[in-house]
Amino acid sequence: MFQALVLEQNEDKSVRHSIQSLDESALPDGDVRIAVEYSTINYKDGLAITGSAPVVRKFPMVPGVDLAGKVIESANPGFQAGDMVVHNGWGVGEGHWGGLAQQARLKGDWLVKLPSAFSTRQAMAIGTAGYTSMLCVQALEKAGVTPDKGDVIVTGAAGGVGSVAIALLAKRGYRVIASTGRASEADYLKSLGAAEIIDRTELSEKGRALGKERWAGGVDAVGSHTLANILSQISYGGAVAACGLAQGGDLPASVYPFILRGISLLGIDSVMAPRAAREAAWAALAQELDTSKLDEMTREVSLSEAPAVAAEIMQGRVRGRVVVNTNR
Ligand code: NDP
Repeated sequence: MFQALVLEQNEDKSVRHSIQSLDESALPDGDVRIAVEYSTINYKDGLAITGSAPVVRKFPMVPGVDLAGKVIESANPGFQAGDMVVHNGWGVGEGHWGGLAQQARLKGDWLVKLPSAFSTRQAMAIGTAGYTSMLCVQALEKAGVTPDKGDVIVTGAAGGVGSVAIALLAKRGYRVIASTGRASEADYLKSLGAAEIIDRTELSEKGRALGKERWAGGVDAVGSHTLANILSQISYGGAVAACGLAQGGDLPASVYPFILRGISLLGIDSVMAPRAAREAAWAALAQELDTSKLDEMTREVSLSEAPAVAAEIMQGRVRGRVVVNTNR
């Protein structure tokens, strides 16, 4: 038997959660069974657990898009009992039981071997949010946004994607400007490597079609007017990696910065990213991410505390990353 956070749907379509003791036979199909050591709460987990958006496609569901742990048994030739593994995305926690449990059964093809640089706790401190930050940084560099080109802006800075993006960009030598609604987190953001902090209200209202060139590039976790304003302020030939929608899923932008400044909008998806891209991102994280900065941005909670964190993340109140110790 193992403990799991289980989501069930009420008649009015709202979602209720409980910690349940489940038998291994209840686990979904898959060729690798894992003893989960840590999971995490990402924004999408917040949506699922609070029922704020129809993220969960079938009930009952064990949420948790991420997990890290040890293989108990495997029928997949790529993994054997005792291997340490990480999982991110692939619709897990949405259509297939996820990581907020002491055990999971998944497809081996979804798994990545845990880089030796990280403990399972650190891998979950990174989680989908941090691995997505690396995908954003890699996309910017591929688009030619190098540190010598000028300042780079990170929105949703005090959140999970933003915090890791700041640390990664600063480590690569970029001058990072952090946009946040939480002025009280200025010291935290500077400790991660931000050179300057701006108030997010500078970017969150309807702005001009073409603004003054301010940024060589950007990592945007926020969408809506914020992304539109950043695009209008990107300098000639620059690029923005767009991965999130914390402000909104709309994009009220104009074509002017694209056709007059040749800028690029780079869409970033971590969920269905191919295995090679995942492995490259995790390998780069293992090389570049300063684990003392990671520890600084991470808080640990138990499985039973996870729903409260889900509510917090929906209110934009989580700082950095939260890991869930499934055995606590
Ligand atoms: P967090 O909740 O940790 O961070 C989001 C941050 O956005 C908040 O901390 C806050 O930062 C800012 N924010 C919140 N509400 C608003 C608002 N109304 N207007 C402007 N800014 C706001 O979430 P994550 O960092 O985990 O995820 C960020 C986004 O990225 C989410 O939309 C998520 O769905 C998406 N995502 C996408 C992935 C992909 O594959 N494309 C993968 C992972 C995440 P502050 O307080 O500093 O202003």
